[in-house]
Amino acid sequence: MADIEIKFPDGAIKNFASGVTPLEIANGISKSLAKKAVSGRLNGEYVGMHDQMMVGGDFELITKDSEEALRLLRHSASHLMAQALKRLHPDMNFGVGPAIDNGFYYDTDNAEGQVSVEEFPAIEKIMHKIVEENLPIVSRVISREEALDMFKDDPYKVELINDLPIDEKISIAVQGDHVELDKGGLVPSTGWIKNFKLTSVAGAYWRGKSSNPMLQRIYGTAFWNNDDLQAELKRRDEAKERDHRRIGAQQDLFFTSQEVGSGLPVWMPNGAAIRRTLERYIVDRELEAGYEHVYTPILSNLDLYKTSGHWDHYHDDMFPPMDMGDGEFLELRPMNCPSHIQVYNHHPRSYKELPLRIAELGMMHRYEKSGALTGLSRVREMTLNDGHTFVTLDQIEDEFKNILNLMIDVYHDFNISDYRFRLSYRDPKNTEKYFDDDEMWANSQRMLKAAMDDLGLEYFEAEGEAAFYGPKLDVQIKTALGGEETLSTIQLDFLLPEKFDLGYVGPDGEQHRPVMIHRGVISTMERFTAYLIEMYKGAFPTWLAPHQVRVIPVNRGAHGEYAEKIVEQLKHQGIRAEYENRNEKLGYLIRDAQSLKIPYTLVIGDDEKNNESVTIRRFGSRDTETMPLAEFEKTLLADIANYSRT
Ligand code: ATP
Ligand code: ZN
Repeated sequence: MADIEIKFPDGAIKNFASGVTPLEIANGISKSLAKKAVSGRLNGEYVGMHDQMMVGGDFELITKDSEEALRLLRHSASHLMAQALKRLHPDMNFGVGPAIDNGFYYDTDNAEGQVSVEEFPAIEKIMHKIVEENLPIVSRVISREEALDMFKDDPYKVELINDLPIDEKISIAVQGDHVELDKGGLVPSTGWIKNFKLTSVAGAYWRGKSSNPMLQRIYGTAFWNNDDLQAELKRRDEAKERDHRRIGAQQDLFFTSQEVGSGLPVWMPNGAAIRRTLERYIVDRELEAGYEHVYTPILSNLDLYKTSGHWDHYHDDMFPPMDMGDGEFLELRPMNCPSHIQVYNHHPRSYKELPLRIAELGMMHRYEKSGALTGLSRVREMTLNDGHTFVTLDQIEDEFKNILNLMIDVYHDFNISDYRFRLSYRDPKNTEKYFDDDEMWANSQRMLKAAMDDLGLEYFEAEGEAAFYGPKLDVQIKTALGGEETLSTIQLDFLLPEKFDLGYVGPDGEQHRPVMIHRGVISTMERFTAYLIEMYKGAFPTWLAPHQVRVIPVNRGAHGEYAEKIVEQLKHQGIRAEYENRNEKLGYLIRDAQSLKIPYTLVIGDDEKNNESVTIRRFGSRDTETMPLAEFEKTLLADIANYSRT
């Protein structure tokens, strides 16, 4: 048989007999390599370890230590799960079953009823059995007719096959009696998939379209070794513990309901107390930093969003316009920028007024996909800590630094330290997606980078993350669930000033075009609150806590009056204090206050009453401390004023 020429990643070239398998090649190099090689790749396409190679070319082995190999394992685990499900439910149909960032899923449709998490142990048991069977996993190319026949009982697979381009190769992966429509990139046999766990179920529309049937998405995860699997499961448990939806319900902070509408949260008094504190805090901070706060309507004439370009570019995320019947169309705003532009444009502007900083807690509505809605972190009605500054070209860099410094100060007050700066540039390979002005992009991207270097801040650069109108700086934070989200953002915009024909009179007496900087410091009240709940695990520092002090009399008859007097006095100082009026045992009441993570529990008995003192117990501490009421009040007020960390 003819030889084929195999070229290795290091450039070495070797000849092998045609029909050689990746496993044979690996074995020829070393036994240990053969043991950890999961799959081969020939000319960019996966070849299973047991598959014969009939042509030569660029070849590499994907080994267990690579990120990619873990994806192959998880992809294989989704097939393993499907095989087990099929043994339990022979009539079950299957959509797609990919590897995802921290595991895998398979979309399923079971005519006999949904799979519940209670069924997971039974499914896992069969999966383990198939692992013991150590079935070889083999890929094969088949004709379209064969494929359609093979999957004729599964409407989803038939749709997938019919949607493949006519010249596309169709391949299957076979493991024992189970067949998957699959391009390859799988472990050599089921025996390789030892450490896995099914984790959850959720609804998912077929192909993500809400007009399609709702399938059941079954999630799982898999690792090469058990320690990694256990560590991940532990991390997930902790994430569940701090999930803002769970804590939100437990502390009665907010809720969403179908009655009100999806993605439209209701802030209960406790949540509202947190939000009010955030709003007052950030407005004060911004006034101090030279911003002028305004109020503008949450709905405006649709033409405003046609001029701004939102209607063209952002249409899918907007609520449908309201036809007022008299020729006017009103639109719920998805962003506040056009409103602030109206504020700018209401008066003729001079260079002496710039930078002009306009800010608002601006309520916006975005029609987010129903599948993406999550508690407070992704909603359809939100209030953004928004601001737009209007500057001359020469002022961009200084203003950028001003905003950045404001952000860093604010993070410090909230004790936020786990964040990264991302400079988001346009995608140089896809420039038509962006505002067309190469020089503007080059200059402004350089300017942002220079400002960051000047401030000595670390950052990473991301191409393709810019807004269509200009580059930006994003502050990326880690969420409890391990993902990353943008918290703050500073965006340069050369486009909207054009579209709205903004101008100012320069020192030369001529009209000039200002540059607009969009910025959000603490994001939306919704997302920021969700983030804080998770970061603090519900144990808010005193200045943010919905209940700051709970006062419990040892005996209501004897000490109630003094306890109530304390509450009145603290409330008078703006402290969120409350009198515990329930007729329960003292121990129970103290535990209850601790379980709500109230920073200060005061227990009031004879001594306290006679000495005008208080005995305090801090959240999380078993110790108590007694001090004069006046002193307690003073330290408490100082803690709140200083945004103390406890
Ligand atoms: P995302 O990528 O999260 O959809 P975006 O890039 O559309 O956000 P901007 O238009 O810059 O975001 O909005 C400003 C900020 O508002 C975002 O950084 C984010 O923190 C917050 N935000 C955006 N969409 C939502 C939402 N649906 N629910 C809550 N907060 C949101
Ligand atoms: Zn804006």
